[in-house]
Amino acid sequence: MVDDLPLNQRYVDFRVRISYIGKRKEEYKIDQIKTGKFIAERRKLMHLTQVQLAEKLSITDRAVSKWETGKSMPDCTIIPELCDILQISINDLFNGEVVVMENYKEKSEKLLLEMATQKEEADKKMLSMEILVGVFSTIILLSFILMASLAAMQIWLRICLIVGGFILFVIGIFFALKIEQTAGYYQCQKCNHQYVPTFKSVFFAPHINRTRYMRCPKCGKKSWNKKVLNKE
Ligand SMILES: [Zn+2]
Repeated sequence: MVDDLPLNQRYVDFRVRISYIGKRKEEYKIDQIKTGKFIAERRKLMHLTQVQLAEKLSITDRAVSKWETGKSMPDCTIIPELCDILQISINDLFNGEVVVMENYKEKSEKLLLEMATQKEEADKKMLSMEILVGVFSTIILLSFILMASLAAMQIWLRICLIVGGFILFVIGIFFALKIEQTAGYYQCQKCNHQYVPTFKSVFFAPHINRTRYMRCPKCGKKSWNKKVLNKE
């Protein structure tokens, strides 16, 4: 199945840079296709379907399918649990095969930590972007309304300005919400499970700032879930 993928998707790779304190930098290239095939192989070996594996990790089976076709890598916070289930080391996962290597544990832990740090930094940037998008959309809306009510113009132009302002505002808020959904995690108050919710559940959840009242996919209970950037 993987071989049927278009060429440009077959060579997606995943890079992680590790800098040893004050020393050299080492770059790891992870072949996502190979890792994906390996995940599928190990999953079948464990007699699990994509749905069953997804359930164990409380994620969607679409995510599992994306890993297995090499379209994405598992989130760094899911990797330890995934490796446990597949009975492989983190290093095996990154290599796309079972490997025997010295100091592999130390190396994989560094890799994982580095992945988490990179993700956290990227998420932080995205969340500041969310504020920017939100503020910008509000300013646009207000200035369009102000212009429509104060400047001398024909009535149809006033209506166009107000409607246009609202459309831009809605688009802006949609983007801001999309960022909030995907950057970092929400933490369940009941069981402390951290997860990325669906856009729909974020959209409909009552919220105070970034804390949202949502149902946890792991324990199924509703609580005020805080936004967290790093997973423990
Ligand atoms: Zn929970």
